[in-house]
Amino acid sequence: MLPTRLRCHACDATASLEERKRCVCGEPLWFETHSEEFEWPDRRDPGMWRYADLLPVDPPSGVGAAAGGTPLVRSPRLDVGGARLFVKDEGENPTGSFKDRGSAVGVAYAVAAGRERIGTVSHGNMAMSTAATAAGSGLRCTVCVPADIPEERLKNVARYGPEIVRIEGDYGRLYEESLALEGIEFVNSDTPLRVAGQKTVALEICEAFAPGTPEAIVLPVSSGGQLSAIRKALHELRTAGLIDRPPRLYAVQAAACDPIVRAFEAGDERVSPIDAGETIAYSIANADPPSGTRALAALRETGGGAVSVPDEETRAARRRLAREGGFAIESSSAVAYAGLERLVERDEIESNERVVLIATGSGFKERTEEAVESRTIALEELASIE
Ligand SMILES: *Cc1c(COP(=O)(O)O)cnc(C)c1O
Ligand SMILES: [Zn+2]
Repeated sequence: MLPTRLRCHACDATASLEERKRCVCGEPLWFETHSEEFEWPDRRDPGMWRYADLLPVDPPSGVGAAAGGTPLVRSPRLDVGGARLFVKDEGENPTGSFKDRGSAVGVAYAVAAGRERIGTVSHGNMAMSTAATAAGSGLRCTVCVPADIPEERLKNVARYGPEIVRIEGDYGRLYEESLALEGIEFVNSDTPLRVAGQKTVALEICEAFAPGTPEAIVLPVSSGGQLSAIRKALHELRTAGLIDRPPRLYAVQAAACDPIVRAFEAGDERVSPIDAGETIAYSIANADPPSGTRALAALRETGGGAVSVPDEETRAARRRLAREGGFAIESSSAVAYAGLERLVERDEIESNERVVLIATGSGFKERTEEAVESRTIALEELASIE
């Protein structure tokens, strides 16, 4: 029997996955895990599946089995203010973002539970990831997108052959309503299955530093799903006695859409929806984040913080990540590096601290804005090139 018991992070109520994905109190639920006996595994499953003991399901067949296990790269040329930087390169996942970790658990679960279809409300990385992972396991996939989206934006998703459904009406409401649908297992950004998979990034980071921990983890945040997943993993590792002091967690958002940063600064416990502006960091532009409360709790529990950055700083960060690190990272990820620069300036991160930057998504899907700088020479001149 598959585990389905969920617990609320806020009021401690329980429910089952078939019953509901959000608690009666309105907060998202996550899987209950028993990690008291957990130890760093010696199993050799690829990627994130070495942590199968903490996951609700075994690996799926196909590409989902290849999610996770991404490199953690010490990148001294990217150090800021004496803090020592490690890049967790989630762009190395099968479809180029950390979403593959959650899709893998969602798809594996849907197959094991005898579902024929999985669904998602996204037209970006999550849609691409869900469609690809479903394809690898022979599961049908339904991707719900806004009716007016340009076809160009869907090409990366369409290549994996999902059913694409254009929805007229309030796309925000669709997120909630899809979760209550019967028949299709919707694995949206902060649902229990997705969060279960996405917590493995923090397990990998902590295992790499074991028996210590890095002092800080900095990441871009939108729905708050990934930050909640990291919080969950840190709880589990504490229960297992594998970490003493959790790393401080820092959320970075684009200044044009930063509801979590505003709530953090105001000392609020809940995030209020905002009127968002345009930003190049479109993968993280959720103006009404469904996991906002969990995300705020993660920042406060660990003594971390939140910061927003304007697009000019994101562009400069993206360029520095490429030119001084060799990383092609999408704008929505590069915000985290711009945020780190601000955190160092504000003395929230100190010299010599070890900081992990989660590079959530690959830049290869994004059309580059950089102009090509080049010169032309005659073949005969090649020998005397300087
Ligand atoms: C989805 C996504 C995020 C934000 O993750 P949330 O779980 O919604 O907070 C950040 N970066 C990239 C590249 C993403 O695709
Ligand atoms: Zn609750």
